[in-house]
Amino acid sequence: MKVDLHVHSTGSDGTNTPIELINMAISKKLQILSITDHDTLAGIKEIDYLEHKIFNNDLVFVPGIEISAEFPTTLHLLGYAFDIKNEKLNQVLETLQEFREERNLKMLQKMQEIGFDITEKELEEEAGGKLIGRPHFASLMVKKRYVKDTQEAFEKYLKRGASIYLDKKRLSYSDSIELITQAGGVVVLAHPYQTQLEGEELEKLVKQLKEAGLAGIEVYYPHHTRKMVEEYKRVAKKYDLFITAGSDFHGKNKMGIELGVDVDEKELSAFLKILRKY
Ligand code: AMP
Ligand code: ZN
Ligand code: FE
Ligand code: FE
Repeated sequence: MKVDLHVHSTGSDGTNTPIELINMAISKKLQILSITDHDTLAGIKEIDYLEHKIFNNDLVFVPGIEISAEFPTTLHLLGYAFDIKNEKLNQVLETLQEFREERNLKMLQKMQEIGFDITEKELEEEAGGKLIGRPHFASLMVKKRYVKDTQEAFEKYLKRGASIYLDKKRLSYSDSIELITQAGGVVVLAHPYQTQLEGEELEKLVKQLKEAGLAGIEVYYPHHTRKMVEEYKRVAKKYDLFITAGSDFHGKNKMGIELGVDVDEKELSAFLKILRKY
């Protein structure tokens, strides 16, 4: 079957609106789509929910989110099938947004100090009035020819440790998992290769996450090698976690990634079972 459980919309730093993504998913014959914007539900709230929960029985839409947790490398957690109106969830996301706005202003200042002629207004326009993220900084740098492409913008200025980079406020993994769980959802470890852990170290992390309530691992992901897929499947099985598949589609903000991942239905069966209860 074809699904995509990891997709960014204009609600965060993707370049397609939620409705566009739904239409793309339908035309690509995806069976399940989840929009998983960074730390915000603004995108999925644009979708008329009850009406669109199941689209002609062809496409199932699952509300999602991607939370960047505190970690020495990268630890992203995907939440699925929660109540988008949950009060605590909305409250906490609001505070994350406020911190992000402060961080963005400071990053903008740093950029201006370097001598880049980029204004707050341009940044807001680039983000379409929604959540501003580093990819928006990057695409403005490209448009203004300070760098040749997004990759150069990240390498030179925006990646962790680079001159313009500032961290955002992050929740601990246990708080992130608790937040989604109390809203009725399930939590999945996103693109485990980004933790840069393998073998026993990866297992140790997964064990801790599982104890905190983790339910699944994103095994199928464009950057995962065959060897990684095998390893993550093994770890998922050992810790009784379901497996998922996602592309991390960002539209034009992440070139070379297409919407949709092919996966054997049997491999998704544990996740599908949870969705049926939702
Ligand atoms: P932010 O939430 O503002 O810190 O931005 C995070 C976004 O930046 C994520 O969506 C990533 O896809 C993107 N990103 C992070 N590192 C890189 C990189 N090295 N190259 C391209 N995109 C990146
Ligand atoms: Zn993103
Ligand atoms: Fe991520
Ligand atoms: Fe993502």
